[in-house]
Amino acid sequence: MNDRRQTEIQDVPMKGAVPCVSCHMLVARFAPQVVASTGTYHRECFEAWYLVRYGRRPALLAGTSGHRHRFQVRESAVQERAA
Ligand SMILES: [Zn+2]
Repeated sequence: MNDRRQTEIQDVPMKGAVPCVSCHMLVARFAPQVVASTGTYHRECFEAWYLVRYGRRPALLAGTSGHRHRFQVRESAVQERAA
């Protein structure tokens, strides 16, 4: 029998943490993050993805007090045609 060492992926100690849609690493609860209709991204991951896709930086709106690390995308900006 193999005595496999446990990987670092155990039951997640961070309650409420979700994996980033882009890189699949967990997004720490208070890390800068972007909540989009497609899921949650690290802010850096989202900006990188958006920049590649649309050729410019996304318009992010910081959340209300207590959630200032959670950004939302201005959907109208996403729906603009990328000319
Ligand atoms: Zn990420």
